[in-house]
This record gives sequence, C-alpha cells and structure tokens, in this order.
Amino acid sequence: MSVNTLNGERKLKTIGIIGAGQLGLMLTEAVHGAGARTVVLDPDPQAPAGRAADERIVAAYDDAAALEELCRRSDAVTYEFENVPGSVLIPLAERYCIPQGFRPLYDSQDRLREKDNARSHGLRTPAYAAVDDEASLRSAVARIGLPSVLKTRTLGYDGHGQAVLRTEADIEKALPMLAVPCILEEFVRFDYEASVVLVSDGRRTIHFPIGRNVHRDGILDLCAVPAEGMDAALGARMAAESRRFMEACGYRGILAIEYFVRGDEFYFNEMAPRPHNSGHYTIEGCTTDQYRELAHYLLGMPLEEPRLVAPTVMKNILGQDLAAAEAVAAEAREGVFVHLYGKSQSRPKRKMGHITFVGMTAPEYEAAWADRFVK
Ligand code: AMP
Repeated sequence: MSVNTLNGERKLKTIGIIGAGQLGLMLTEAVHGAGARTVVLDPDPQAPAGRAADERIVAAYDDAAALEELCRRSDAVTYEFENVPGSVLIPLAERYCIPQGFRPLYDSQDRLREKDNARSHGLRTPAYAAVDDEASLRSAVARIGLPSVLKTRTLGYDGHGQAVLRTEADIEKALPMLAVPCILEEFVRFDYEASVVLVSDGRRTIHFPIGRNVHRDGILDLCAVPAEGMDAALGARMAAESRRFMEACGYRGILAIEYFVRGDEFYFNEMAPRPHNSGHYTIEGCTTDQYRELAHYLLGMPLEEPRLVAPTVMKNILGQDLAAAEAVAAEAREGVFVHLYGKSQSRPKRKMGHITFVGMTAPEYEAAWADRFVK
C-alpha cells in the first residue's frame, strides 16, 4: 500500500498500533503482507511487536504527547490495548485518522456499561447488578442468588479482578474487592463458551467461523472450529445477532464477542474491539485471517468473507507450556503451526505463544496432543 510522491518515490502507508504485544505483532505481519508499515507504542521496550514493527515509541498508553506522535507518524491508528483513556484518545480522534474511534473502547472499558450497551442493542446477557458497597452487594446477591460472580467493573482481564461467590464466607472474603466499583453477575451454568470475530468497514460486515472456547483459570486455553455441538441454526443466529449488534452500534474495524451457550440460548459475556485470542486460529485455519482483514480495513482495502479451510484447534501456550511448545515446533509436523511471541520473560499463566492444528477436531486433539501440555 503506497501513495506516489511528486518525485515518483513510493511512500508506504503507515499503520499506528497502540500496544506492541502479540496482537500487535501479528497485526504488523499482516500490515507488512499488505505492503505497508507499522509504528507501535508500548511502555515495554522488549514488547513482541517492537522488533517486527518499522518504528516504535516506548511510552505509557496514557502519555498524550507520545500518542500524538504515534498519530502524527501514521496514516491510520488502531489499538490492541483496551484501556487507553478517552481523555487522551477522543481529542486525538478529532484530529487524526483513528477510524475505529473511541466509542467501542468506551463501551467495553467498563463491564457495567458493556452489558447495558449489549442489552440495549438486543443481546441477551446474564443477570447483573452494579455493586459499590456491602449493602448493594448483599441486595444484588438476594436478587441474583448464589453462586454468582463478582467482577471489578474496569481493568479486569483473563479472570483477574473476579471472584466466584458460592457461600456467605465467600461474600465476606470478597468485600475488599469493593474498594473499586464492581458488578455482580449471575453464574451461568453454560454448556460451553463461544466467540465470534467480525470486521466491518461500515458498508460490509464479515465474520469468521464461530469458535468453541475452553477457558482454564479464566484464561483461554483452547479454541476449536467448527464449534462442536453447536447446531447450525444457533450458529447462524449468533452470527446474525453479532453482525446486527456491531452495525447497530455503528462500530467499524474489528470486534470480538464472547458468549456463554446454554441449551439453545446464548448470553453476551464481553466484547473487545481488537483482534482476539480466539481468532488466532484464523491465520492458518481460514482463507483470510482477523489480522489481514483488520489491516485491509485500516488501509481502505476491500474486505473478504473468510472460509474455514479445515477443522482447526488452537491451543494457547502459557509459560508453563513453553518447553512443550518448543518441542512440538522442533518436530515440524504437517498442519501444526507453532507461534512463539519471543517474550523475554516467561511466567506461568503468561501468554507466550499458541499452536494451531489445522485438519484436527477437538476430540482428535484431546486424544493425540492434550497430554503433551500441563493439565
Ligand atoms: P471474563 O473475563 O469475564 O471473560 O471471564 C473469564 C472467564 O470466567 C469466562 O470466559 C468464563 O469461563 C468465566 N466466567 C466469567 N463470568 C462468568 C459467569 N457470569 N458465569 C460463569 N462463568 C463465568
């Protein structure tokens, strides 16, 4: 992607990315594939996308001057980090090209606002209530019942900032969480979890095949596509409602929505206006992937409807599984794609990479591969 300058030189387009983690890394690879460049901003000088990007800015996500510099160097800016403050991003969005805008971030930064927004746009959610102190917690428990899940309204991720309440003792234990505003949610006894990733340019909305997700300790462990056990009508309804939701909210760019599925009903859990962990499988599992479609959107190129190439399973590699993943990589097996993000520090529960198994179903993965990783 380039524009011709007066002296005939090609000036490549530049995509700015707020955040330089693995999502920024894979987005950078897709932007490069489209013939453009990236500049990333991240407080960590060792962040994975920093090495792949054409330029990087080492600064905090709320550093207004650094974010302005990112915008100045970019033809379009996107984010892989959700907690960029509106006070910084909104003024920048008025002066620079941030085509997704602040709205989808704003709507997803607070779990209460996120669920209110989902509900007001027609998506079913688990029962929930705002909780600010012990009295409101107790009245929310009286209404919603036990078990239920107490979550901080902001800054929670991968199961951080949440507690399952099953007994009176759990309520007592959770009281310190109320130092910040919280939300109490009905504990959904779901059959399974599922997610859908969509990309919209305002004229056309595409979506990737729905994944069935398994979380462990609040962190995504596996994503299998097609979603086993999901009947076609439910899948079609989930895709159609997700698309209608995205369009009704007026969101552009990328959106991932996570659902709980119970019987023939599904419940909105949360959304993220950025590439999603459950969409990693699309890189090899689909004819086009979430990063490529986001890159195309940001570069003003047409979107392409993805198709699944073959049944695919994605296994997340956390620190405790890094050695096993390296061993799998060394075997160079057909249809097994090992992605390691090159993070300099490995820790249990830190996302270090993922493996995509193309041409494999979830039961086949369980029978042949699951034992290679920490249970
Ligand atoms: P979240 O960060 O809200 O996506 O939560 C992480 C994981 O915790 C989810 O993917 C579920 O596996 C589990 N979880 C969160 N909220 C609930 C809920 N209301 N009912 C049952 N499980 C939940």
